[in-house]
Amino acid sequence: MTVMLDKLAAQESRRVLGDTELTERAERLSAQFFDGRARPASVRWVTNQNTRWGSCTPAEGSIRLSHRLQGMPEYVIDYVLCHELAHLLVPGHGADFWRLLDAYPRTERARGYLEGVVAAARLPHVPGARGE
Ligand SMILES: [Zn+2]
Repeated sequence: MTVMLDKLAAQESRRVLGDTELTERAERLSAQFFDGRARPASVRWVTNQNTRWGSCTPAEGSIRLSHRLQGMPEYVIDYVLCHELAHLLVPGHGADFWRLLDAYPRTERARGYLEGVVAAARLPHVPGARGE
């Protein structure tokens, strides 16, 4: 019975991409936007990353995404993947880096979304409508 209920719960919750699917997705994005020059060897979710959305180790081609991105729109996850893919080619956030990332058409929109998430998290509780 527990197994059955777990299965039902799993069907209802929003599907989260597995690490293999994430890696395939990153490969596809690299082909689409970076002429396949960024070569991700592995992409995986991590839960120990609370101040960054993603990180990478260029020497290994490994990319890590914060689990906090799970459940966010796909274009936001794709943006973070593209951001880390671009870092496999260009370290730092100089003009070269952003020029490369311009290839992903929803960069500005995704950055706005993530800035909104951060801003909302920092908001104090909004007082009641009566203004107490
Ligand atoms: Zn970066």
